[in-house]
Amino acid sequence: MQGVASSNPAAPTIEHTGQAGGACATGLFSLRILVSNDDGYLAPGLAALAQAMSAFGAVTVVAPEQNHSGASNSLTLSRPLTVQRAQSGFFYVNGTPTDCVHIALTGLLDAMPDIVVSGINSGQNMGDDTIYSGTVAAAMEGYLFGVPSFAFSLVERGPEHVHDAAHWAAQIVRRYLEAPLPAPFLLNVNLPNLPRDQVKGVQVTRLGKRHHSEPVVRAQNPRGETIYWVGAAGTARDAGPGTDFHATAEGWVSVTPLQIDLTHTGLLPTVRQWLQGP
Ligand code: MN
Repeated sequence: MQGVASSNPAAPTIEHTGQAGGACATGLFSLRILVSNDDGYLAPGLAALAQAMSAFGAVTVVAPEQNHSGASNSLTLSRPLTVQRAQSGFFYVNGTPTDCVHIALTGLLDAMPDIVVSGINSGQNMGDDTIYSGTVAAAMEGYLFGVPSFAFSLVERGPEHVHDAAHWAAQIVRRYLEAPLPAPFLLNVNLPNLPRDQVKGVQVTRLGKRHHSEPVVRAQNPRGETIYWVGAAGTARDAGPGTDFHATAEGWVSVTPLQIDLTHTGLLPTVRQWLQGP
């Protein structure tokens, strides 16, 4: 198996462990795979995903030093960033998920990866969550650079069934390798927190919608200053059949293809008329 950046001694490559399906041992796949997340380089979901991906080739992990859940697509422009390597071989960056993938794609890696995978997030990224998600953002950065990209999230917090989720994540990547999908694409995948045998299969979904978030929680700090904690996400509002919320609640893996163009095409004529009107 080729390392991601064999001519670059600083580049971290995790060797195939033989524990994640064995496909690599047969020489079936030899991808260059970039793995990132938003929960930080020590997160159990990241290790589980990296291990599962090692069945498909050479894995490089570049992840944030700290938890950056909710970071969305933020890039750090106000200070320089450092990249360090952990004992696990993972690279970690004192920045955001987007910083990590951006640095990997534009400077750290010797060659563009074949795929970017992000996760496995501790907690769902469904409906409106995708706007705020650092997990989705890391994958979106790959997509913006034209690389097929996947974001994986476990719908409940905690690593209870994270290896089962990684198994299903690998099934989806394997499907792509066996039957390529036109690139680039960005797939937002939410995985039920279930033993792998209890997962019903994979459903293609659209994003549902949530109610408005809970109000901020106001409190006082020890100095008597008022502080605010951002409140919890709203409950699902549009969660009917066909949505990501519905699929995962029913025990399916949810796969939603995402796009980035925010243009409200349907409103273009109305706004044009509004601005040109009397
Ligand atoms: Mn997270």
